[in-house]
Amino acid sequence: DLHPEHPGMKAARRWLAGGAKKLLIDGNWVEAQSGRTIEVLNPATEEELARIAEGDKADVDAAVAAARRAFDAPEWKGISPHARTRVLLAIADAVERHKDELSALETLDNGMPTWFSGAAVNMCIDAIRYYAGWPSKILGTTNPTDASNFIYTLREPVGVCGQINPWNVPLLLVALKIAPPLACGNTVVLKPSELASLTSLRIAELAQETGLLPPGVLNVVTGYGQTVGAAISEHPGIDKVSFTGSTAVGRSILLASAGNFKRVTLELGGKSPNIIFPDADMDKAIAAAVNGFTRNSGQICSTGSRLFVHESIHDEVAQEISRIAGGLKVGSPFDTDTKLGPVISATQRQRIMGYVDSGNQDGASLMTGGCTLGERGYYVAPTVFSGVTNRMKIAREEIFGPIVAIIPFKDEEDAVFQGNDSTYGLAAGIWTRDIGRAHKVARAIRAGRVWINTFGETDPVMPFGGFKQSGIGREFGIDSIMAYTETKSVQVRF
Ligand code: NAD
Repeated sequence: DLHPEHPGMKAARRWLAGGAKKLLIDGNWVEAQSGRTIEVLNPATEEELARIAEGDKADVDAAVAAARRAFDAPEWKGISPHARTRVLLAIADAVERHKDELSALETLDNGMPTWFSGAAVNMCIDAIRYYAGWPSKILGTTNPTDASNFIYTLREPVGVCGQINPWNVPLLLVALKIAPPLACGNTVVLKPSELASLTSLRIAELAQETGLLPPGVLNVVTGYGQTVGAAISEHPGIDKVSFTGSTAVGRSILLASAGNFKRVTLELGGKSPNIIFPDADMDKAIAAAVNGFTRNSGQICSTGSRLFVHESIHDEVAQEISRIAGGLKVGSPFDTDTKLGPVISATQRQRIMGYVDSGNQDGASLMTGGCTLGERGYYVAPTVFSGVTNRMKIAREEIFGPIVAIIPFKDEEDAVFQGNDSTYGLAAGIWTRDIGRAHKVARAIRAGRVWINTFGETDPVMPFGGFKQSGIGREFGIDSIMAYTETKSVQVRF
């Protein structure tokens, strides 16, 4: 099962053969102080793929000390914004040169199909280049006041940033956790997910190899959340924490960060409504709805997991969605016609199957799927429940799997009411040809991102984040620049 046909496989295997992956601390690749490692499984084969260092609090302490020294040293603090631009462009170029290798590595590690890991590398490169343009544009203001005064503001880096990532789209999220803080002149301690750390480690290696990053500016500590993640969120030497992951862990991070009042951004879970009005371009709406819950096997925070369909067309749309979803190829993520690879782990597959049971018990109609597939690998069939009510557990809790709950609605007001009736508020989709309705509903929906006549697209210029329990703050676009800088106001009396 070596997939020699993938253009990046040879390079990925060569890198993997280099032994257990180490921590990046102060510009050096080092073992965890405990000497322990974590076994990483390939979710498509359930075989060992690699071993990564099992970092702990002591390693976080070392990384934070290095990041603090680097933050205060002239090699980083003193460089011009143009030099920071060159650093980020060089990192993006290195990622681009290793694009196929990174795509293969991500598919081996996470199980996502290669069409998706290929797209994720491109998003990673675009995001790094987008932030490479920012350093010389982080503007302060001049604030008009009386004639004997001059008042202006500066935006300055926050300091040492602790960056904690999930496993679902590491290639995109590593760009989001590294590029904006570096663009603003901060230093970074990154903790990828213990379930999928490999592409983050490889990108950190490529970044070091540019020779442009002073030691300690970028540090990577792999390991478990309860140890490395908790140490980062409590650490008095860390000025800001940026976390992407589950709402439950986000809550514990917010509590832990109160010790030294870290600046906190949290990108958490979702239960995003995707609303199809009867006047929509139905073929496009249906195709996007299927894609919206099957992409990356539904393991995306903005998955369109609650599909609201007008009651007049609910049954036929549900039929068509089931027909298309039921025909999607689930299989080896290296097969080019595969639409869904395995989910990340046995535990995740079990959680997902628990929600299938719950939907069945609550009386939703199972239209297709509802089962695991294959003997090896964590495969789950795309699953469609129709006739769901918004009170059922499958409509309330984030599943993070390829399951959609189709819910009928009566009219615009009902769609908005039900769409907003959730503890989450991450994203939403609206399908209609009525331009007035589209914008009206976009305003009424309480979510951080609204797509009209599209669903699930990502662009680094577009801020992302949640209302309600989907998070605090925004990332991407100018919002990341604001999140990684502090405002300083200066008054001069003449
Ligand atoms: P998770 O919360 O279990 O883990 C995320 C990260 O936090 C991992 O690195 C983990 O090791 C670490 N962690 C775990 N316990 C911790 C603790 N006590 N203290 C500090 N760190 C800890 O999430 P996951 O299972 O890796 O990812 C899935 C979740 O991520 C879903 O809920 C999904 O919605 C969310 N997500 C959100 C976005 C977004 O932008 N809003 C994007 C992707 C994923």
